Amino acid sequence: MSLEDQARCVLTVLLNRIGNSEQTEIPLESLHRCPNCDKATESLASPYCSETCRDQAAFVRQFRAALAAGTILTPEKQVVFGERLWWLLGGGLPLRESRIPESAKRQVAKRSDGKCETCGAPMTTVENVGSGCNRPLHLRAACPRCAKTKSYRDLEFSQSPQVAKLLVSFANRVGASTPIRQCDDPDAWDWRAFMAKRRNSGM
Ligand SMILES: [Zn+2]
Ligand SMILES: [Zn+2]
Repeated sequence: MSLEDQARCVLTVLLNRIGNSEQTEIPLESLHRCPNCDKATESLASPYCSETCRDQAAFVRQFRAALAAGTILTPEKQVVFGERLWWLLGGGLPLRESRIPESAKRQVAKRSDGKCETCGAPMTTVENVGSGCNRPLHLRAACPRCAKTKSYRDLEFSQSPQVAKLLVSFANRVGASTPIRQCDDPDAWDWRAFMAKRRNSGM
């Protein structure tokens, strides 16, 4: 199976869960909480408590929009959403990693002197950092223990409790007929308006 098809399989896991809600989230809506996770935050730069929350909320909105428009059925979209989902679940970017050019890998290996850039053990792979591109600046040499990118077929990872919990939450939020969280609504969510209200609400 190609990596593209494997990414689509990841997405299928989410699509199959839609409609089988196992829990109901009741958000604590407040101007002083992260709209994605309810953690208290007073940031004046972003509504969210972290980049992770910002990215999760964007995924839910984009997914809801794609479901509404029916574009989620196209294979290309499914590959993109599947790859994105795997990354948000913490599995890294296997598809992107498979496309890192040899020349970039060699540059990174030279930079790191053949060592893992996290722990110093001998490196075995080069992986993307964050959602970055293939420039060496956005790449990192890693040993098997420190590598963050998991194979799409890593069952131990994909069946771990924290991944299962996130999948349930995404399925609930993506599949809800009415958006569960205000930041889930692709039509109505306006982070600038939210921030203006936070600033004016006197902290
Ligand atoms: Zn948060
Ligand atoms: Zn290491």
